[in-house]
Amino acid sequence: MGRHLSATFACGAVALAAGLTGGCSTTNTDLGADGKLVVAVAFYPIEDIVRAVGGDQVHIITVVPPGEDAHEYEPTPKQVTRLEQADVMFYLGGGFQPSVEQALGVLPNHVTIIDLTAPLRHLQLGEGNDPHVWMDPANMQRMAQQVLAVLAEQDSVRVDTFNRRASAYIESLDGLDHEFRAGLARCTTTALVTGHEAFGYLAHAYGLTQVPISGISPGAEPSAKALEQVATSVREDHVRTVFFEQNLPPDLARTVADETGAATSALNTLETLSRDELSAGLDYVRAMRANLSALRAGLGCA
Ligand SMILES: [Zn+2]
Repeated sequence: MGRHLSATFACGAVALAAGLTGGCSTTNTDLGADGKLVVAVAFYPIEDIVRAVGGDQVHIITVVPPGEDAHEYEPTPKQVTRLEQADVMFYLGGGFQPSVEQALGVLPNHVTIIDLTAPLRHLQLGEGNDPHVWMDPANMQRMAQQVLAVLAEQDSVRVDTFNRRASAYIESLDGLDHEFRAGLARCTTTALVTGHEAFGYLAHAYGLTQVPISGISPGAEPSAKALEQVATSVREDHVRTVFFEQNLPPDLARTVADETGAATSALNTLETLSRDELSAGLDYVRAMRANLSALRAGLGCA
């Protein structure tokens, strides 16, 4: 934050030298002119972490707007210019958001760019890694630790606040993890039939098996043969509910459900939250808790 802090001080010094009162009045509308860190995040789950750890002691710029597809989103030139104001930029590497990663390549040197997936253990998916790491609360905790370390390093004045807030957040994720463990311990079926392949980490953490209808990205259209395979596994595993994703059209899930007589139910991938969800105060822990309710009902859990 050195850049912003010194800008503020310099401005104050000029005001003092000129004998002005009333502090430093400036037309500079730059974020961070108040000495708080400007933290850019690639998409929603990282926003949740930074908001939890930084609170109102940081400014947050989120690249993927509410309701947009995080996988395919292309930052606008205006957004890229805005990112130049950031002190830190957090993202998930590994090809999850190719256009965002590309935009990071043109950011100036003063922006510290951090790939939060670096220390995480990845699940393998086809040829590459499954990018949906945030669907396991334990990974959210690991990423929160990293965010804390970076914020603390960049703004030593607010370290105590960051520490306190991060501890509370990590504790709430612990609680969520326990709820999932208890809530999914005894279910009629462990086959989790979903829209796109976003729930691998959740399934892995809590003993479920993901049966995705679509591929790794919501944009990937499944073949008729792939749809038929899913329908077969729905019948064989006595699946009662086909899950679809909150922010995507439920067509594919409906097709499979209609063909097999299963019901449909919505899950939130948290890849993006809609404006309505955000203004209703939804956040990671609340959305995951809603996911747990839907899973318990759909999988017939005791
Ligand atoms: Zn996804």
